[in-house]
Order: sequence, then C-alpha cells, then structure tokens
Amino acid sequence: MRKKIVAGNWKMNLTKDESIKLVKTISTEIQNQNIKNNRIIIAPVSINLHAVLNNVGNDKRIEYASQNMHFANNGAFTGEVSASILKGIGIYITLIGHSERRVYFNEDTVLLKKKVDQALNNNIEIIFCFGEELEDRESKNQLKIVENQLKNTLFHLKDSDWKNIILAYEPVWAIGTGMTASPEQAQEMHAFIRNLVAKNYNETVAENVSILYGGSVKPTNAKEIFSKPDVDGGLIGGAALKAKDFAEIIKAIC
Ligand code: PEP
Repeated sequence: MRKKIVAGNWKMNLTKDESIKLVKTISTEIQNQNIKNNRIIIAPVSINLHAVLNNVGNDKRIEYASQNMHFANNGAFTGEVSASILKGIGIYITLIGHSERRVYFNEDTVLLKKKVDQALNNNIEIIFCFGEELEDRESKNQLKIVENQLKNTLFHLKDSDWKNIILAYEPVWAIGTGMTASPEQAQEMHAFIRNLVAKNYNETVAENVSILYGGSVKPTNAKEIFSKPDVDGGLIGGAALKAKDFAEIIKAIC
C-alpha cells in the first residue's frame, strides 16, 4: 500500500544552527498531529545532515534525505558525496534528478541513470524528480517528455527495485514561480505516470509507488492538490523553509 509523503527540499539554504532550529520548530508544530502511515522527509544542505540528525533526529516521524548523490563509490570527484558517505552518517534517502541539477549542473538522462543504479545498489531510496518545461506544455508535449524522462532513467529497473523509488512530478514552470499546476493538471499527469508504470511493470508496482507533486505547493493549495486520487503528497521547496507553512502542508496529507 503506497504512503502519502510530504518532503521538503531546502536547497542551498540555512546554516547548521538555522537548520536545527527549523526542524525543532516543525517538530513542535506537528506534535499533536497523527502522522499515521504517512511520511515526512526533509532534505537539508548535505553538510548539515549530520548535525541535524545528531541534534533533532529523536523525532522519528521525520526522516532525512540528501539533495544529491554521486554515481561513483568514491574517488576524485571534488565537492561530491557518495552513497557510502551518506550511509556512514545514517542517510538512506536521496533526491535524484531535480530540475535545478538538470539545468544548472547539466545532469542528463545518462548521468541520472547511473545515479539511480548506484543509489539502488546501495539500498538508498530515491525521490526521483522529473517534469516538463513550460514550452513542452505549451506545445502539448508534456506527456511525451515525461514518458521519455522515465523510460530513459527508470524503466530498466527490476520490479523489486520499485520499493525504493518515490516519484516526484515537478513541472519546471511551477518550481519556485508561484505558478502551480491545477489539481486537474496534476491528476491527469499522475494518472498517466501510474499507467505508464503499470504498462512497463504491472498493476501492483504501479499501485504501490508514491507519486508526489512539486511546484509552488503552499498551505492554501496543498489540500486540494493532495485530494486527487493519484497525488500521494508533495515535494516542497520554498514553503518547506517556513515551519508553519510546512506543518500546514503536512496536515494536508494526514
Ligand atoms: C522544488 O524545488 O522541488 C520545489 C517544488 O520548489 P517550490 O515548492 O519552491 O516550487
């Protein structure tokens, strides 16, 4: 049975102390909330992950993820972090394929596929991000684009790998822009994605994979978007940096 998930991507924001403080405030904000079978995941800056886990890791309802991970075990890759380095500090989840990595760091499907394989070989769960650009949607090519993104990076996986995959559909035109996909646009795409997984694997894999929506989710629109049958929660950027907003978004899946 798939879970509802709210994941926060803090991007390149917050010092160590600010990160610890924000997690503490979020934890307090949701202290009376029954999280039930849902998941809350936060991805701070990687250099702060260890301190966050050590200082506020006692609230077991909150899990932590890396924002990125390299495809190699170790070696001469200045500035990067590997699966074993993440596992060494207790991190077992990573984002892969965020549009900012694709655009600003030229991460293409060949590279992303290598990262996916490396994460899974190390038992690291992946929040795999993908989505179309504005011109793709304007030219009505969004379904084809998304299908190709998934085909080129994920559809070589085995059925059993999918227990470690969370999909995050993030239309690039909605990330950090204040423009959100309408609940209907999100549902249409999420149903299409689930159907693709069913076609390439089977109904069980498709029914069990959580598909998150990302792109300017806020307390004011979260409930409506998350109420759609194929939307299993959200990947949150800007609003994840504000404790009250993030807590409200979490409440929208509970
Ligand atoms: C993101 O960066 O994944 C994201 C969804 O950002 P925002 O919520 O700010 O649009």
